[in-house]
Amino acid sequence: MSKKPKGLAVLGSTGSVGTQTLDIVRAFPNDFNVIGLACNRNLKLLQSQIEEFEPDYIHCNGTETEMTSLKSNGCQDCDLDTMVGDPNVDMVVTATVGDVALNPTLTAIDAGKHIALANKETVVMAGELVSARAKNAGVPLLPLDSEPNAIWQCIRGENESISRVIITASGGAFRTAPLNEMADVTPQQALKHPTWAMGRKITIDSATMMNKAFEVIEAHWLFGVPWDDIEIVIHPESVIHSMVEFVDGSVKAQISPPDMHLPIQYAMFYPERLHNPAIKKFDPIATGALTFEPWEGERYPCFDMAIGFAKRGGSWPAALSGANDAAVDLFLNEKIGFLEIGIVIKEALEDHTSTEAPELDEIIAAGKNANARVVKLVRG
Ligand code: MG
Repeated sequence: MSKKPKGLAVLGSTGSVGTQTLDIVRAFPNDFNVIGLACNRNLKLLQSQIEEFEPDYIHCNGTETEMTSLKSNGCQDCDLDTMVGDPNVDMVVTATVGDVALNPTLTAIDAGKHIALANKETVVMAGELVSARAKNAGVPLLPLDSEPNAIWQCIRGENESISRVIITASGGAFRTAPLNEMADVTPQQALKHPTWAMGRKITIDSATMMNKAFEVIEAHWLFGVPWDDIEIVIHPESVIHSMVEFVDGSVKAQISPPDMHLPIQYAMFYPERLHNPAIKKFDPIATGALTFEPWEGERYPCFDMAIGFAKRGGSWPAALSGANDAAVDLFLNEKIGFLEIGIVIKEALEDHTSTEAPELDEIIAAGKNANARVVKLVRG
């Protein structure tokens, strides 16, 4: 009995998660039909993806000449909302950076599409709105990121008996760096993540632990876990991707070698599990000891600051995300030092006036304004 292939729109198809999503399509070619591919500027890779997956729609930031050449492969260009709303799309993979995916994600939710969610900024900026709209539409939000995906796998089949969620953190690039040297670290050093190969923005977010704060926010909104029941533990091996404790004291952990293909595949096939020979299996003996270290708050000042803004709610988390985007960009371009990332975010947010229960346009405006304030603070 053959099933109809799942229609996919991949937003951010040339990025780290996007390309790994297409690896899963390659491994299971009869299960998926790529309807749309969207990226920013990596047109060379997009061109080869178009030739291989023959999407109906593309979206990218190309010149008229570049678009004509891309479309000569038989696809049309359209805006992201049109792409995700196409009747042939069943699942939308949101793997872009920043706030680009926000509006199309809501469009897709309202159209009843399943959301395979990699873009954390969507949940950070608009967690309350996105989770409420998904609940209303009966649309699942399927997290691709390894930690929320692990929590999701652990709570599967359980009822309301979660007592604690323990999110693991590798510690990022500077887990063991002397604190007095942190001010001078370069973008090149910060981009060397010990266990995961990811995009530039998220690798810097991992070094500051802003990324871990974003995962706490995801756990709160995606699974309804109260803020105070979420803990972080440093686990340098990145083999346990998160743990869930239940009221009887039992703890479930999701274990697998650090490879995003597994959580991506799990979300793409949920509720089915399939064997994929390309995904490396866990070998306890070869892996050796799994270690845990306490969280050092003073090493990661961005974390506490971010959780503080997230708990305030309203448009605070949107402003936080927008300010962080700008600060990371300025650090990558060597305009500010590593420790200044948190300082400029905090300073920019001092001017923010929060809106209660913000609508999408207010969320986007809060992010853009905070982003502009960071740039102004640094550039003068
Ligand atoms: Mg993660």
